[in-house]
Amino acid sequence: MQSVPTSPTTPGVRALVVEDEVHMARLIGSYLERAGMEAHVVHDGPSGLEAAREVDPDVVVLDLGLPGMDGIEVCRQLRTFSDAYVVMVTARDDEVDTLIGLSVGADDYLTKPFSPRELVARIQVMFRRPRRPTHPEPTDHAVNVGRLAVDPVGREVWLDQEPVHLTRTEFDVLAALAGNPRMAFSRRQLIDAVWGPEWVGDEHLVDVHVGHLRRKLGDDATDPVFVRTVRGVGYRMGPGA
Ligand code: CA
Repeated sequence: MQSVPTSPTTPGVRALVVEDEVHMARLIGSYLERAGMEAHVVHDGPSGLEAAREVDPDVVVLDLGLPGMDGIEVCRQLRTFSDAYVVMVTARDDEVDTLIGLSVGADDYLTKPFSPRELVARIQVMFRRPRRPTHPEPTDHAVNVGRLAVDPVGREVWLDQEPVHLTRTEFDVLAALAGNPRMAFSRRQLIDAVWGPEWVGDEHLVDVHVGHLRRKLGDDATDPVFVRTVRGVGYRMGPGA
């Protein structure tokens, strides 16, 4: 076992922990703080949503089994006003498949028991990338794919010159594909690029985020022009065969 990180490695990140097991919630909060994050801890779903509106967190650690309102409903409601990175915590492994199938919009999943260190490591991978600054227009760095422009520096996307609002994970998946538009990515390669090589879990998580991306880009899943399915491999940027 490694020790708890002693130096702040993820400063300036606001984290919200929604977990009804008080000891667990505090433990997670203290690990996040030791990694340099600002941690807010609440113990039920409605308080989680209220805190999310107040704090505007960058990351939400969300327990699935919560009294009053479960984590699925919290995540759904959260997604109507927040693009925070959401890590859903579940009690059972098989719940993850169900959750991925439900496509509730979580970015990552962890099954209990997990080490808080692993949780912190997963969050840190996500925040290695720069925060999205405000850019009014596509910059010189933007990659153009047909009617789509992806700016990996400003973390912005435009479709027909109109900005498209994506979550952090959706953006990272799109940026990985657009950064190498001739390459067909396997799910694992996309996971390595977005969630990090240490990530272990159901690789169909990628499909969920691709599904969300296609919907936001107005892409028809049966004949997508932006994010194409490569049979037996994974995904690549379109257009083109
Ligand atoms: Ca619980």
